[in-house]
Amino acid sequence: MKRIAVYPGSFDPPTYGHIDVIKRALPLFDKIVVSVLDNPGKHCLFSIPERIKMLRSITRNFKNIEIHSFRGLLMEYARKKNATAVIRGLRVVSDFEYEFQMAQMNRELNPHVETLFMMTGTQYAYLSSSAVKEIAKFKGNIKKFVPSIVEKMLKTKLKI
Ligand code: ADP
Repeated sequence: MKRIAVYPGSFDPPTYGHIDVIKRALPLFDKIVVSVLDNPGKHCLFSIPERIKMLRSITRNFKNIEIHSFRGLLMEYARKKNATAVIRGLRVVSDFEYEFQMAQMNRELNPHVETLFMMTGTQYAYLSSSAVKEIAKFKGNIKKFVPSIVEKMLKTKLKI
């Protein structure tokens, strides 16, 4: 049986923190499905196709990876993708409470899918998509935080 994991998130936009998690998770599974959550209730800067485009471009040389989007229940999506695990990243303690609740609830919904937490690479502990957007908005340098395609698309989006 293939070991498949789903890595869900907003990825609005993807950062080096996300990429670090993907790179470290890849050797642990036969396939990682990175999936952009299509949540109409959450206002995002980038559209789903834009976020998929960025993720596909960044990971074009990675093996055993698929980039998609999904709507609805993560556990239902994981079942459809034959995944046995969901990967989430943990940065600071404040991530923990929310993630803990989600993981418990998701286990109730589907006990066959395990939530695995990956500690952030310490150099990315402070890095979030919202911080990157904020810095970009005020014309700060974001080269250290995101790949060049993300920097380019952010500048276009924010008309910088
Ligand atoms: P969400 O809205 O689902 O939190 P994000 O795109 O912000 O979507 O994050 C997706 C996942 O990646 C989450 O599990 C988040 O904790 C993790 N993540 C985000 N930034 C980092 C980082 N710098 N280091 C490690 N994990 C991260």
